[in-house]
Amino acid sequence: MAEFDTIIIGAGPGGYVCAIRAAQLGLKVAVVEGRGTLGGTCLNVGCIPSKALLNATHQLHEVHENFEKMGLMGAHPTVDWAKMLAYKDDVIAGNTKGIEFLFKKNKVTWLKGWASIPAPGQVKVGDDIHSAKHIVIATGSEPSSLPGVTVDEKTIVTSTGALALGSIPKSLVVIGAGVIGLEMGSVYARLGAEVTVVEYLDAITPGMDAEVAKAFQKILSKQGIKFVLGAAVQGAEVTGTGAKVSYKLRKDDSAHEIAADVVLVATGRKPYTAGLGLEALGVEMLPRGQIKTDGHFATSVKGIYAIGDAIVGPMLAHKAEDEGMALAEIMAGKHGHVNYGVIPGVVYTTPEVASVGATEEQLKEQGRAYKVGKFSFMGNARAKAVFQAEGFVKILADKETDRILGAHIIGPAAGDLIHEVCVAMEFGASAQDLALTCHAHPTYSEAVREAALACGDGAIHA
Ligand SMILES: Cc1cc2nc3c(=O)[nH]c(=O)nc-3n(C[C@H](O)[C@H](O)[C@H](O)COP(=O)(O)OP(=O)(O)OC[C@H]3O[C@@H](n4cnc5c(N)ncnc54)[C@H](O)[C@@H]3O)c2cc1C
Repeated sequence: MAEFDTIIIGAGPGGYVCAIRAAQLGLKVAVVEGRGTLGGTCLNVGCIPSKALLNATHQLHEVHENFEKMGLMGAHPTVDWAKMLAYKDDVIAGNTKGIEFLFKKNKVTWLKGWASIPAPGQVKVGDDIHSAKHIVIATGSEPSSLPGVTVDEKTIVTSTGALALGSIPKSLVVIGAGVIGLEMGSVYARLGAEVTVVEYLDAITPGMDAEVAKAFQKILSKQGIKFVLGAAVQGAEVTGTGAKVSYKLRKDDSAHEIAADVVLVATGRKPYTAGLGLEALGVEMLPRGQIKTDGHFATSVKGIYAIGDAIVGPMLAHKAEDEGMALAEIMAGKHGHVNYGVIPGVVYTTPEVASVGATEEQLKEQGRAYKVGKFSFMGNARAKAVFQAEGFVKILADKETDRILGAHIIGPAAGDLIHEVCVAMEFGASAQDLALTCHAHPTYSEAVREAALACGDGAIHA
């Protein structure tokens, strides 16, 4: 008989959530984690530390930009970088210890070390071989590399290095205008660094609704972040004073160089499956390095499953968590399900940007008849009171049925507001359903209702 019902490899949001749910459903569960703490990329070097630094620097920005407007006078705080990093580390520790507590509470065994799979049904950790009915690969992802750029995590860094720089750089070049690059760029811009974002495409945040992306770039530019778009980076090297990045503009092939104290390479992430022994097992892989799975997270080898960043789909913690929960249900003989049509995406800058469902570009491409309801935060009293009236809510609904197809928000608390639309979409709601729902005043949420009203007879405060 197998020692465990399920062994999960990797304790990130996919793995640890899968473990807790599987244990709650009565399975005997172990999780193997090679890192010294639980929580994976997200809690240790991803979502959580970046949000801690975004919070600290947002507060600083508020002091500088808005305090005097509210009659809050006095000396502005100075930055103690070591202390700010210590605050970030405390936040990480609190969260990773929280997962340890949840493991104990749910009787999930933590097997410490790096795992491989010598044969189906077996997981090797150090010299020990454990057996399990189900094996779940939740090994996540690592930063992608860029030809001609060697990362040393000091001067030329990935997001991991950017979360723990020795000092605040005076200048920072970010390669890649995706979510991670813009969030970290915002952190250092608010700390006084001159930030330049170099992006291959002609727009920032690829995949985002184009109207929102354009407004977002304008707002970030106003905050002092510079953008070089349509630029193919040729290489980056450490110099005596920092680093320099060379790039060619795609429009005319002209060559340029830009120097900075620090260069952040934020060109995306790739699945991490090294050392598991998947090739020997014959686990089928996809061309971009993800593990191939069916609709129930099963790989091509019986009894081995995969979830999270290691498989296809958006590399997001909540997507990994949902897959973890669904797979736990499946392993317990129930019906797990993930609705990939309703997975929100959030950028935690100020203002925040959030989206769910189809973009306007996607609807056009599908040839779908749709209508747009838009509402500016300029018409939202609460947003104006806190100097966050930049941005808007945009709801896309089917022209005939009024069913909500997507929503895109740039503005205060967008990352929280979006969930109202997510729930509506899960229930197959129409824009009118949202518009007829009473919303408390004064809240940012009223802007969502107004955008829904704008899909019908019109917004009130527009
Ligand atoms: C800077 C940054 C900011 C981010 N911000 C957000 C955000 O705000 N919101 C969001 O949704 N997502 C965010 N992400 C993405 C998010 O972190 C990932 O999508 C998420 O962590 C994926 O979860 P996972 O469980 O698939 O894998 P991971 O979190 O990567 O966890 C995998 C774990 O497996 C372990 N492991 C790997 N191989 C083995 C092995 N052989 N044996 C034992 N252990 C192993 C690793 O040590 C790791 O701890 C961010 C990422 C970064 C880098």
